Amino acid sequence: MIVNIAIDGPAGAGKSTIAKTASKELGFIYVDTGALYRTVGLNALRLGKDTKSADEVVPTLEGLDVSLRFVDGEQRVFLGEEDVSTAIRQNEVSMAASNVSAIPKVREFLFDLQRDIAKKNNCIMDGRDIGTVVLPDAQIKIYLTASAEARAQRRFNQLKEKGINANITTLTQDLQERDRRDTERAVCPLAPAEGAKILDSSNLTVEETVAQVLAWYKECLAA
Ligand code: C5P
Repeated sequence: MIVNIAIDGPAGAGKSTIAKTASKELGFIYVDTGALYRTVGLNALRLGKDTKSADEVVPTLEGLDVSLRFVDGEQRVFLGEEDVSTAIRQNEVSMAASNVSAIPKVREFLFDLQRDIAKKNNCIMDGRDIGTVVLPDAQIKIYLTASAEARAQRRFNQLKEKGINANITTLTQDLQERDRRDTERAVCPLAPAEGAKILDSSNLTVEETVAQVLAWYKECLAA
């Protein structure tokens, strides 16, 4: 049986760290769907498009080749034959991703790709609408959240580790702006899925948070 674990939640809640660690423990692949929206955003930026405009972004989807490849369980995202896994992490691309993700045609464009991976692989998939829209039948659905302050600090540390300079005030504002856009948008707004387990990681370590995910997995197997 294929097992799917869906993790949704706001930017910076620790979804990728938790999902990555838990999937290693379980021998699952980890699918970071934000990388797909970021790649569509990066491509639109490179083409000089206004990423808020559906009229400008939708034509860029024509023939667009976005794919995920897994090397030792590690996800790499490709734009054509170019590995853009690092390029998509720039702050400018975060906002572009949030913008393009509000365009229904962009969500449709990425839907099958996400579903196909989950159908064929035991995976932990994270994003904003995984439990609600992409994998509503996932055996475990988790809504991972944390306070805005905790999230901004984590994102700052993450970027610093990658050698990307950031300003904490700007990061907090960007996070709040993205939260607003992600929760208020008309298509697939960010919200806990029906039956999702809410996990607030503000005061939890990575180990404690992962332990909770693994405990839910064991519970699910036993049920
Ligand atoms: O998770 P990450 O911060 O990389 O996602 C970038 C943006 O992509 C988010 O702000 C969100 O707007 C969008 N996104 C989405 N649905 C997903 C994953 C990401 O709308 N499943």
